[in-house]
Amino acid sequence: MARGTVRPAKELCSDCGLCDSRWVAYVRQACAFIHQQFESLERKAHGRSRDLDNEDELYFGVSERMFCAQLQQPLEGAQWTGIVSTLGVRALEQNLVDAVLCVQQSPEDRFTPMPVLARTPAEVLAARVNKPTLSNNLSVLEQLPGSGIKRLLAIGVGCQTQALRAVQDSLGLEELYVLGMPCVDNVSREGLQTFLESTSRSPETVVHYEFMQDFRIHFRHSDGSTETVPFFGLDTPKLKDVFAPSCLSCFDYVNACADLVVGYMGAPFQWQWLVVRNQRGQKLLDLVESELNTQPVMSSGQRAQAVQQGIDAYDKALRLPRWLAEVVGVVVQRVGPKGLEYARFSIDSHFTRNATWLRRHHPEKLAQHLPAFAQKIVSRYRLPQP
Ligand SMILES: Cc1cc2nc3c(=O)[nH]c(=O)nc-3n(C[C@H](O)[C@H](O)[C@H](O)COP(=O)(O)OP(=O)(O)OC[C@H]3O[C@@H](n4cnc5c(N)ncnc54)[C@H](O)[C@@H]3O)c2cc1C
Repeated sequence: MARGTVRPAKELCSDCGLCDSRWVAYVRQACAFIHQQFESLERKAHGRSRDLDNEDELYFGVSERMFCAQLQQPLEGAQWTGIVSTLGVRALEQNLVDAVLCVQQSPEDRFTPMPVLARTPAEVLAARVNKPTLSNNLSVLEQLPGSGIKRLLAIGVGCQTQALRAVQDSLGLEELYVLGMPCVDNVSREGLQTFLESTSRSPETVVHYEFMQDFRIHFRHSDGSTETVPFFGLDTPKLKDVFAPSCLSCFDYVNACADLVVGYMGAPFQWQWLVVRNQRGQKLLDLVESELNTQPVMSSGQRAQAVQQGIDAYDKALRLPRWLAEVVGVVVQRVGPKGLEYARFSIDSHFTRNATWLRRHHPEKLAQHLPAFAQKIVSRYRLPQP
């Protein structure tokens, strides 16, 4: 099937890849942007849906354990310390699975994703580090029939996980493990270029970047140098149109349907954040837990006022001069939300922005598309006029 010919979600398509496989037949029930079904997918994956009266579950989804970690021997070239890649490697070495669905980079461009079904540790390691663009991971499901793969570990972001969960019973697998990463504000390859050009001093040499918990974007360049830019100095007027419409209508920041989630947003600066959602997630974690330094999750600061101010400023597309952005950045870094409160700050900011975007661009979808947990969170704030 020619790539990109079938896209029933139209503008809202995140290019998860399902439509580039024979499982396109299920797209109307499976696509995260056509059919929002968190409750039933959470029940399918974890045996229950999240408890909306429990603040941690309201924000972070079903969980059995949550903690912060770093790999004792960080993996060179990984996005953070390489917990995700190491886990994929161990899953093959210890014969838990036959293959790992992960994303390598295209030979021509470091930021163009190339999903693969990795059969060797070297192939998993070649997929380390984020390709910060929409990736059609599920297209490689097309290679499953006849491959001999019966046990699969799928690594991916929320929209990919939701579609995968919806079709998992028809894949012919005996075992499926899902290792998820949180994700927001993804972009097309062209959108990434606009972002890099408007934000970095040297867009053509960026090899790695991350929005970090110290409210700064950290860029690493090909000569090994680093550059940091305060969130508050972003060129909001230009960047408002850069994010993919799929991501502007997404409420699955924390990858609700994965067995295990590895991100950073709920951890202090420089630590990774792990959420074990069910026993399969614990089984995945068992593969690497002895190789981790760990610490409990922490939380400090108050996010609510900063979120409300951010909603208003974003809506007006305000851009602070660089010196003021630096000052605000230093203050927020000192007294602003940290740990789980930082994660809640980020979730609140993105859910309110996305609810506003949906209400303006797809009002007919709002009621069906906004899950109950997001409705509860968004209702705590005053949204801009429609
Ligand atoms: C697009 C994207 C956005 C993210 N946003 C956030 C966020 O807002 N908050 C947060 O806490 N964490 C976020 N993460 C997760 C975080 O950046 C790290 O990837 C995670 O902590 C794992 O780090 P690591 O060193 O263990 O990963 P590594 O060992 O470097 O492995 C990275 C893995 O990411 C996979 N991958 C790379 N690009 C993509 C892609 N485009 N789509 C799907 N999978 C991909 C690769 O297959 C690889 O297995 C995001 C990840 C991605 C890919």
